[in-house]
Amino acid sequence: MHVLVLGAGQLARMMSLAGAPLNLTLTAYDVTTNRVVHPLTQATTPQTLEQAIADSDVITAEFEHIPDDILATCEKSGKFFPTSQAIKAGGDRRIEKALLDDAGVKNATYAIIHTRADFEQAIDTVGIPMVLKTALGGYDGKGQWRLKDRAQADAIWKEMQACLDDAKQQAIVAEQFVPFQREVSLVGARNANGDIETYPLAENIHVDGVLSLSTAIDAPDLQLQAETMFAAVAKRLDYVGVLALEFFDVNGELLVNEIAPRVHNSGHWTQQGAEVCQFENHLRAVCHLPLGSTKLVRETAMINILGEDSLPPELMAMEGCHIHWYGKSQRPGRKMGHINLTADYPGQLQRKLCEIANYLDKQAFPAVHRLAKDIQD
Ligand code: ATP
Ligand code: MG
Repeated sequence: MHVLVLGAGQLARMMSLAGAPLNLTLTAYDVTTNRVVHPLTQATTPQTLEQAIADSDVITAEFEHIPDDILATCEKSGKFFPTSQAIKAGGDRRIEKALLDDAGVKNATYAIIHTRADFEQAIDTVGIPMVLKTALGGYDGKGQWRLKDRAQADAIWKEMQACLDDAKQQAIVAEQFVPFQREVSLVGARNANGDIETYPLAENIHVDGVLSLSTAIDAPDLQLQAETMFAAVAKRLDYVGVLALEFFDVNGELLVNEIAPRVHNSGHWTQQGAEVCQFENHLRAVCHLPLGSTKLVRETAMINILGEDSLPPELMAMEGCHIHWYGKSQRPGRKMGHINLTADYPGQLQRKLCEIANYLDKQAFPAVHRLAKDIQD
């Protein structure tokens, strides 16, 4: 079968690698350059988008910021999974919030802001501290402000107003600041029959709004809450494919932060840690093949490689250390690859995280160093 992926980044690349053993071949459409490319080599093919659509058996997406007209064209072909509605819910925080409310899942209190008067009203209804996020175009913590004190309102409004003036359709979603103990996420797959397979929860550590470290955890009570919310959201969207839900854990109660209608960075650990990884399961779901087991087979932590294009060779010699590069040119802070670190049991994984910290730069991998210090203390 041939699959066309909207988006040509690392997620399409890893989908392509996962699909090969099943004879699933992938082509990617780079939405920013309007080119149809090979997802591994990035070599341009002579195809137009229309030809690529015609040549594909199935179309899917690796990210949510896709122009409406492209989504509509793909959906019209009858080959697109999940739906354009699901992609839009991931790409527009207004639609996302309405979806979460409709599905009856808990999320942070919010208000939508277009004008200064809306902002003042949000300060009253949502309260301070408050997190403000652009409705469209946000990722990796970009397009966000924190209002901690009323005195900051004028300065923040100036910046928000510039964003609102910049793009038609833009709005700001004001959210109550959630005093969470930790962040977790659930990645799972749903097929066209409505069957669902979810992976164990991952605990996520962000640095400056970007995911840094993600570890599969065994937390039965949270898992149950997360799976219930996952099922509610996936059913509401009549979802087919892999879907991710990000949560705040507040004293053992989960609140949904956001959804991602695609394979997710916090699910990369499944490449080594699960029976069938998220990339293969996404392809299985959208290609109408049986879903694969999501069972944990190894304790695994995933470390994002941000802005670095090389690692000390000692890492490759470490048992359980699996390096995945994305073939990108270096830029500060850019997601260049990730490391999956595996172990036989949780205590061994902690020891390996301490060991790997010795080889990783302190500035580039602050979360690993902090965790290693906490474990050793
Ligand atoms: P990504 O797409 O990379 O997951 P994003 O840019 O879409 O990120 P969010 O996930 O909404 O943004 O926010 C980034 C981080 O900011 C969250 O992981 C969390 O640490 C923090 N954050 C977001 N919203 C809130 C909130 N309401 N209260 C407290 N912290 C928050
Ligand atoms: Mg997020």
